[in-house]
Amino acid sequence: MEQENVNLFDLIPSQLRELLEKIQSVLDIVEQKKNTTSKVVRNTQHSFVCPFCSSNRIVKNGQTKTKIQTYKCKDCQKRFNDLSGTLFSRSKLNMQQIEELFECFHNRSTLRDTSEKLHVNLKTAFLYRHKILNILTDINEKTILKGQIESDEYYISINLKGTRKDMPRASKPRKSHGGSKRGISNHQVCVASAIDETDHTYFSIVGTGPITTEEVEKAFQNRMDSSSTLITDCKSSYEKFAKDNRIKLEQIKSGTYVNLNGYSLGNINSLHSNLEQFLSPFRGVSTKHLKGYLSWFAFSKLLKYTTELLDRSKKIMDTTIIQNTSITVNNVYDNTSNIDFFNVYKEYNYHV
Ligand SMILES: [Zn+2]
Repeated sequence: MEQENVNLFDLIPSQLRELLEKIQSVLDIVEQKKNTTSKVVRNTQHSFVCPFCSSNRIVKNGQTKTKIQTYKCKDCQKRFNDLSGTLFSRSKLNMQQIEELFECFHNRSTLRDTSEKLHVNLKTAFLYRHKILNILTDINEKTILKGQIESDEYYISINLKGTRKDMPRASKPRKSHGGSKRGISNHQVCVASAIDETDHTYFSIVGTGPITTEEVEKAFQNRMDSSSTLITDCKSSYEKFAKDNRIKLEQIKSGTYVNLNGYSLGNINSLHSNLEQFLSPFRGVSTKHLKGYLSWFAFSKLLKYTTELLDRSKKIMDTTIIQNTSITVNNVYDNTSNIDFFNVYKEYNYHV
């Protein structure tokens, strides 16, 4: 319909009917917005155009078995629902279960508790946790740090929990191993991490053992605004990166807390102790899935500063529900972690 004034009496019946349908569909949308729990999806998702052909000639078309509103496009005749194109596409969960899932996620409930609360099996609870983690990882990957950025490495022991059976297992881990090389063995996963002055954080699993110049580069390339100041300890690995990226570098000698210009690593140190607390309820995160848990921590850290406690689970839902993820039951186990387990364990008599 054109924007100019139209006398309705000038319209032919078919045009009037088309107009009536349009008004009806707008009315439907306005009414749904008032009374639905899934309005999040509707408001943010396809703003009422057909996801297949972008037509706006859409009509309501019943509900799915799980009471999710379904629509039909009058142009291409295809159907879709409120959850099409989201991580819950073709999901068997209803809206209440979805809300409970995010509640459990936010509370870091165990998978067992989550599966009991939602009345789904463990595998389903596991899958949805990892779908959400996958999306949070995508979000973390887009982080750009600005201003004063403190950076340091976080070390965590390799954990093969849930890793496929064809992975090497140390048959007799020697006690004497580890502890050498200034306490960092190559059985420690090295997580390059950084926090900026607005509490945005970034984590990247770079390998095992002490961080190298190349690993610093790989972790932070394009992740830091060039007007930033990078604050690190005295490791030389950071020097080349700062120079190449024209980032001002402030280093702090070991054994001292503040350098001559007043910079310290207080924020990154407390970030690392928060991370340790965050991971502790999971009693050992598999290295394969560590990336997702780090992204979860980064996101929850940001939530703490931006969102009221009671709104946080909904905020996680609002942020992630509109995204899709390719994670399925079959490939969630193949999540790569940057770590070559075979290389790390080659010195052991492992059985494959
Ligand atoms: Zn269509």
